[in-house]
Amino acid sequence: MSESSSGNAPMSSLKLYMRLLGYVRPYWLMFVVSLAGYILFALTQPMMAALLKYFVDGLANPEQGVMALPVLGDIQLLYGVPLALLFITAWQGVGSFLGGYYLARVSLGLVQDLRLALFDSLLKLPNRYFDQHASGHLISRITFNVTMVTGAATDALKVMVREGLTVIFLFGYLLWMNWKLTLVMVAILPVISLMVRVASKRFRSQSRKIQGAMGELTHVASETIQGYRVVRSFGGERYESERFYKASDDNTRKQLKMTRTSASYTPLLQFVTYTGMALLMFLVLLLRGDATVGDLVAYITAAGLLPKPIRQLSEVSSTIQKGLAGAESIFDQLDEQPEVDTGTLERDRVEGRIDVQNLSFTYPGTDKQVLNDISFTIAPGQMVALVGRSGSGKSTLANLIPRFYQHTSGKILLDGVDVEQYRLNNLRQHIALVTQQVTLFNDTIQNNIAYGDLASTPKEDVEKAAADAYAAEFIERLPEGYMTLVGENGVLLSGGQRQRLAIARALLKDAPLLILDEATSALDTESERHIQAALDKVVEGRTTIVIAHRLSTIEKADLILVMDQGQIVERGNHIELLAANGYYARLHNQDFAELSDGPSERLDGEGETFT
Ligand code: ATP
Ligand code: MG
Repeated sequence: MSESSSGNAPMSSLKLYMRLLGYVRPYWLMFVVSLAGYILFALTQPMMAALLKYFVDGLANPEQGVMALPVLGDIQLLYGVPLALLFITAWQGVGSFLGGYYLARVSLGLVQDLRLALFDSLLKLPNRYFDQHASGHLISRITFNVTMVTGAATDALKVMVREGLTVIFLFGYLLWMNWKLTLVMVAILPVISLMVRVASKRFRSQSRKIQGAMGELTHVASETIQGYRVVRSFGGERYESERFYKASDDNTRKQLKMTRTSASYTPLLQFVTYTGMALLMFLVLLLRGDATVGDLVAYITAAGLLPKPIRQLSEVSSTIQKGLAGAESIFDQLDEQPEVDTGTLERDRVEGRIDVQNLSFTYPGTDKQVLNDISFTIAPGQMVALVGRSGSGKSTLANLIPRFYQHTSGKILLDGVDVEQYRLNNLRQHIALVTQQVTLFNDTIQNNIAYGDLASTPKEDVEKAAADAYAAEFIERLPEGYMTLVGENGVLLSGGQRQRLAIARALLKDAPLLILDEATSALDTESERHIQAALDKVVEGRTTIVIAHRLSTIEKADLILVMDQGQIVERGNHIELLAANGYYARLHNQDFAELSDGPSERLDGEGETFT
């Protein structure tokens, strides 16, 4: 899986900054307050330098010299200097608090907004996006990459504003004291800016790689955690351990590489700054002129205060680039096209008539046609069974009706209207779907049945749905009944119980169209019987498309569509198809012969059999 979604060209820094700034807009007032705080803070640095001038001048004559202080007026240096120091420190404290606190509010708000936007985009992205991006990478984007932006938005922004302003004010003070001398320092600026530019580029690309590596790490870990049973029963421990080691080692290496860049960059920059300082000192000593010792000390002190904030600024550049790389991947996802939802039609209730006309489909990004010229009609209330080999396209066909994928040619009509003309939300309201792999949430049974739009359904209705799905019996036997937690994806339940919960959920939705993709996993006879009974109940009074593996289900269907390699090769009911003595009859004889006296009358198989 790729680390950045669509391989877009990297966004330019300026564009990224501007876009991030757009997220700051709602917090502009806090931002202004914090900026004001940091201005207060940064102003204290030249003040300290200036105070030194009074101190040095005062050393000669503490009682006679005077300084002007706000509020207190002219005051002897003996008292003035210490008082001024206290005043400056208090001032600095206020500035530091205002700046730090309000900037944190801005940046944490920004991060929160980004995280929410990222999560919401997940709810709107088309199926295709999830096919192409491993969940580990998507999760790592929400957890790790967002943290990188937090780093940039909190610490880095703080240092940037605070130290940046400090540098500016110190520089201003120096210019004011002696602009000619100070211009010597200006000469090194181009060198510094060149270094910053080169380093930033490397930081960004290295950080992008680190974030990709982190995604891979999450991906391997989550796969192993989810598949721990398979890992253990097939002896995959070594393979997984090596895979994880590789991902982790890769991550460590990339981090080290980045550290190497930043660790060599800081001393280099320091060297350049101090070269400027050295030159300055040389000039000061050489051209001392008529300045007082106090002036000179203050000047050199102010100049000496410069390298520290410059160093901090340079160190923070790697954090900023990490954040920008994180923001880049976040914006990449936010820029993905959401599911196409251009339809405008909304219906309260549909009858459930389905017309599929010349439907063909190829999964995006592949070139194998999975559905080829499919046509059929289902009258309201009828039940259609799709049967065919594994991989013949049954689930794909089922996924196209609620528009989980965009079909390429042909039409699907619901009540005579193209499904593309319905608003997606509305279309999906009319369809209850039981997928091949049951999805349960780590919540109570009650909340799993009454999920989503159904969340506010009264308890009695939930219980009725559970009873109709033949689930009530096992639920009531659980120690906490409907309040029992089912574990992650329902691990605390049996396969048959999970399926019955999924059916109960579909029943509760009471949609006119039911699509049921039966699981192929083996069930015990008892569960089989229950599920069969539940299905008989479910299909009453609604249009049903069932992808069937059980003979008992298939026999009851009004119409059986036999699929092979994306095409409908035969159609008719059970009797007709047997009489036709074609594809269906052949498969029936092959696969049912040995099953018909078995306990569970199933059509199941691994690829070559009839599923
Ligand atoms: P089964 O009975 O085993 O569930 P099926 O008839 O439901 O099989 P589909 O899941 O529709 O089969 O798959 C049909 C074909 O489409 C297969 O060849 C499969 O490789 C391919 N396919 C399925 N899902 C995707 C996807 N998300 N992206 C690309 N190809 C896919
Ligand atoms: Mg399938």
